[in-house]
Amino acid sequence: MDASTSVVSEFDLIRTYFTRPTRHAVLGVGDDCALLQVQPNNVLAVSTDMLIEGRHFFAHADPRQLGHKCLAVNLSDLAAMGATPRWATLALALPAVDTAWLREFSAGLFALANRFELDLVGGDTTRGPLAICITIAGEVPAAQSLRRAGARVGDALWVSGSLGGAALALQCAQGAVHLNAEQQTAVNPCLHTPEPRVALGLALRGIATAAIDLSDGLCGDLGHVLTQSGVGATIAYANLPRHPVFHELQHTALEQQCVLAGGDDYELLFTAPSRAQRTIEQLAATHQLPLTQIGMITSADTGLVVRDAQGQRLQVPRSFDHFA
Ligand code: ADP
Ligand code: MG
Repeated sequence: MDASTSVVSEFDLIRTYFTRPTRHAVLGVGDDCALLQVQPNNVLAVSTDMLIEGRHFFAHADPRQLGHKCLAVNLSDLAAMGATPRWATLALALPAVDTAWLREFSAGLFALANRFELDLVGGDTTRGPLAICITIAGEVPAAQSLRRAGARVGDALWVSGSLGGAALALQCAQGAVHLNAEQQTAVNPCLHTPEPRVALGLALRGIATAAIDLSDGLCGDLGHVLTQSGVGATIAYANLPRHPVFHELQHTALEQQCVLAGGDDYELLFTAPSRAQRTIEQLAATHQLPLTQIGMITSADTGLVVRDAQGQRLQVPRSFDHFA
């Protein structure tokens, strides 16, 4: 038998790969429940994301990158609420016990968890088609949480980082687009090891009026903010920060699709009153993260309008939807 598929019991597996000392837990892995204490005056921010092989990631995906990504997408949700990461649980279905895979997967997961002082406090492990489900919890003073419903007419609309890189990497991996080796090296990390904007989310407490993380594409995710806030928005396409590789490709249709509707960027989209502009520009400098004003919040009756450099309206593309 291959060394990497040697027999390991469920409990050895949990102990070896998923049990680490905790920093913020009263009780972590090993009992029937974890025991967690939220600081006085804070509320718990909780979110779950599930990643299924063949749907959210390719079969035979690099396990270390997978460990990073499945936690990163959850951390991104906390970032979008302005919450401090604290705890996570991991529900894992594995087709077999592959210790090499587990070692890499847990290394990727804990490397990111450690950077944000996040404790893995429990989970469930079962045999089945590869599926990874993380529930994450953080804390935030209730009044400072960044909700989707807070955008107001006249607010400026901002986005962090650059857009479309993950979608471009996906199109390349699927063979729909050809990228040279250098271009692939530039976009692949966007798709496989996204950086959750946790520090930015925390810094936006008391500044942003609304926030969301971009998981399904700019227009679709912005649509959630607009609906929940009861407002509209106008975006200047020319102002959108796009991944630098798009400047080389000069492929307008592909670029518009990736930048306006490509998923998996995990940047923060947020709104803030115009008087916050200087403060936000200073945040960009402190966090060494581009923050770009991409448009304005308008009244609900105008809906979402995207205009090109000539002022022409662009078609708003549909974003990803698992069931549409
Ligand atoms: P129970 O049967 O009481 O649900 P389990 O036998 O499933 O407990 O799990 C034993 C302990 O290991 C629990 O504390 C559980 O939270 C933890 N655990 C199980 N799987 C994982 C995992 N993949 N990652 C982290 N902790 C886990
Ligand atoms: Mg269990």
